[in-house]
Amino acid sequence: DEDLALLSADGEDLDGEAPPAPLPVLAIVGRPNVGKSTLVNRILGRREAVTEDKPGVTRDRVSYPAEWAGRQFTLVDTGGWEVDVAGIEARVAEQAEVAIALSDAVVFVVDATVGPTATDERVVRLLRKSGKPVVLCANKVDGARGESDATELWSLGLGEPHPVSALHGRGTGDLLDAAMKALPLVSEHAVVLPSGPRRVALVGRPNVGKSSLLNKVAGSDRVVVDSVAGTTRDPVDELVLLKGIPWWFVDTAGIRRRVHQTKGADFYASLRTQAAIEKAEIAVVLVDASVPLTEQDTRVISQVVDAGRALVIAYNKWDLMDEDRRPFLEREIEQDLVQVQWAPRVNVSARTGWHTDRLVPALERSLESWDKRIPTGRLNAFLGELVAAHPHPLRGGKQPRILFATQASTRPPRFVIFATGFLEAGYRRFIERRLRETFGFDGTPIEISVRVRE
Ligand code: GDP
Ligand code: GDP
Repeated sequence: DEDLALLSADGEDLDGEAPPAPLPVLAIVGRPNVGKSTLVNRILGRREAVTEDKPGVTRDRVSYPAEWAGRQFTLVDTGGWEVDVAGIEARVAEQAEVAIALSDAVVFVVDATVGPTATDERVVRLLRKSGKPVVLCANKVDGARGESDATELWSLGLGEPHPVSALHGRGTGDLLDAAMKALPLVSEHAVVLPSGPRRVALVGRPNVGKSSLLNKVAGSDRVVVDSVAGTTRDPVDELVLLKGIPWWFVDTAGIRRRVHQTKGADFYASLRTQAAIEKAEIAVVLVDASVPLTEQDTRVISQVVDAGRALVIAYNKWDLMDEDRRPFLEREIEQDLVQVQWAPRVNVSARTGWHTDRLVPALERSLESWDKRIPTGRLNAFLGELVAAHPHPLRGGKQPRILFATQASTRPPRFVIFATGFLEAGYRRFIERRLRETFGFDGTPIEISVRVRE
């Protein structure tokens, strides 16, 4: 039986220790209007076109789980941003550079009906420099007559142009076959990731003080390492000694580099945040305490939770708070963060260094939870008592019984409950709350899934 294959004879689980290898990342890159979004929709099999989004509107998602010919990968969609017309060429190149750096292989999309432009040539130079595998997509070849346009793209020096009509689906299968050949089985990011010290992503919207905090805590005790060895100089991991213990701060180039405040930059900041979170084991979400929590702050927190990473929330600029405002603020914060009340919170000032020493204990606490495993015996004893005292509510004369539970994995903790019927969301939340109270999962998201047994 498939579900029970998770369990060994004594009910202990098996697949927990090694975190799953990160999926390889395929980025779709090209200048505006060549058809990137159309192609992404085609690959994802989406009907409603993202191309109908208003230009300049930032979309939340920047990467999507995708599959082709039985292989899973992460598709990075760079089609959602619109650049200012002035300086367009430099912007496209700059943004493409980020996407290229964060990917394992690139599909470079060119409009075959237009032919190579100066902007295309610039991106080609970046692609060459990166050393990443590239698959050239000659888009808008809607029929056989367009094939000769595609042939002209040999001149880009990127090898064979794949004639495609993203709009009608023509040639996309061949393009994806080529992309799968170019894509490594496991993300390069994982391969070059330094092991040993734990990996922290310092994230948050612009101007909350990430760069100030990094400078404050890192001081001069740090080692800077290009994570993408010998290729592009973009994402950089820094080994930072905090009280003598080394930690990797991932993608600090994204923190240190001042990103242009264009519409597209927002989108790329979001892409970058997501990549940093995925690369890390734990994220510190930095929030500006001197202004109300914004939707963007909450979105970053959700990104961390959705990625299943350990979480610490740090309220910065506490030096700007009046003594008499602080108690009010505390209450406001608790309300704002009710969804993640399990996350340790520290109030700090990156400017003065106040309480920044509290960061490490918070990181350690969250990671301990993230790594934690509850033995099956203890888990079932706990659930047995819980269910006896608070049975699942009766619905239509029926009452699902919980048969057995096990922790299927750590990092983050995932629990599987076997029951005789579906458990209501409210009851699952109740179980989660009690699990947290009993076993202390501060700072980690936990997942509970239910398998129904007859
Ligand atoms: P992006 O800015 O690169 O994401 O480009 P879009 O996907 O938004 O496409 C720009 C325009 O080109 C839209 O009007 C699309 O409908 C059109 N387009 C995209 N792919 C094709 C194609 O294969 N053939 C034709 N004829 N038009 C296409
Ligand atoms: P980033 O964009 O998140 O990296 O933010 P920065 O570190 O560049 O900081 C943005 C602005 O906030 C700068 O002017 C900093 O001097 C200021 N800032 C950062 N941390 C603090 C703090 O703890 N207190 C005060 N008063 N200002 C801060």
